[in-house]
Amino acid sequence: MSSDINSVELSVIVPVYNEELNIDYLFERLLSVLETLDTSYEIVCVNDGSKDNTLKCLIEHHHRNPVIKVVNLSRNFGKEVALSAGLDYATGAAVVPIDADLQDPPELIKELVEKWREGYDVVYATRRSRGEESWLKQMTANAFYKIIGKMSRVPIPRNTGDFRLLDRRVVEAIKQMPERTRFMKGLFAWVGFKQTSVLFDRPQRYKGTTTWNYWRLWNFAIDGITSFSFLPLKVWSYVGVTISLLSFLYATFLIYRTLLYGVDLPGYASIMVAILFLGGIQLVTLGIIGEYLSRVYEEVKGRPLYLVRDAYGFKNNGEEGIG
Ligand code: UDP
Ligand code: MG
Repeated sequence: MSSDINSVELSVIVPVYNEELNIDYLFERLLSVLETLDTSYEIVCVNDGSKDNTLKCLIEHHHRNPVIKVVNLSRNFGKEVALSAGLDYATGAAVVPIDADLQDPPELIKELVEKWREGYDVVYATRRSRGEESWLKQMTANAFYKIIGKMSRVPIPRNTGDFRLLDRRVVEAIKQMPERTRFMKGLFAWVGFKQTSVLFDRPQRYKGTTTWNYWRLWNFAIDGITSFSFLPLKVWSYVGVTISLLSFLYATFLIYRTLLYGVDLPGYASIMVAILFLGGIQLVTLGIIGEYLSRVYEEVKGRPLYLVRDAYGFKNNGEEGIG
């Protein structure tokens, strides 16, 4: 599937899930920007199993303007997978994923393209500040970037979403990654290439509500950490060795004390503390192994990443699975 003839220069990928209120305005702004760019372009919309009229709207737009193309997934697969589907279908020499809710200002595409023309392969858009978000969101986001920055072997840029420009080389590299747990920020960083960033202010959602809640963000964070670090798995052998050493010293002390001073029965508190402490640690480590194991299981099953129900505006129309 990677042998597409590059028919356009710029592909914009929009994952859409229940965004009927945003679509008209999105295309209006997107098209007015793209028209000024003096390139050929396409807009690949991936309908991620929307439950409202999003698909109907998208198809109407496609009929009116064929540069708008639609990939309709068979159900909701989540934003990261929808993005991957978009990457598989996009044919541009440069690809820009963008959110449908206008939180990624389309006007910035101009700057991204300029940097790309200067010779960069990845131009990511970094948020100047997160000031408009609640302190809890800011704090958790900060903590997340700090933790993953320490643990991950590839540097993951802070405050950077999926809004960025990717050269065809990078897109092909990402398409070669078969993993099902797709922590896109990490994958984009992992491939390397010549990267740079531009700053922008992230506005509020135009209409509708976000589908991200703290539970989803938590799982997203675990996905990110397990995909890009083995530290949580490895640290336990060191904790184990340390605890064993300390226990050995304590045991030696206990044996000598017993031999010298005889049996001393009280000690309920220390026994309880030791048992509970070790039990807790063992459960945590088991849980962490479980997190990794479930992801290994997910990969081993080898199911396709997504299923396409129908696609509008592509030459090789029809069903296509994983790319
Ligand atoms: N999205 C998607 N599938 C989902 C959830 C979201 O394709 O299951 C899309 C959504 O339509 C939007 C983008 O991903 O274009 C970002 O979603 P959202 O605004 O909810 O996330 P946030 O901006 O709060 O991170
Ligand atoms: Mg949003």
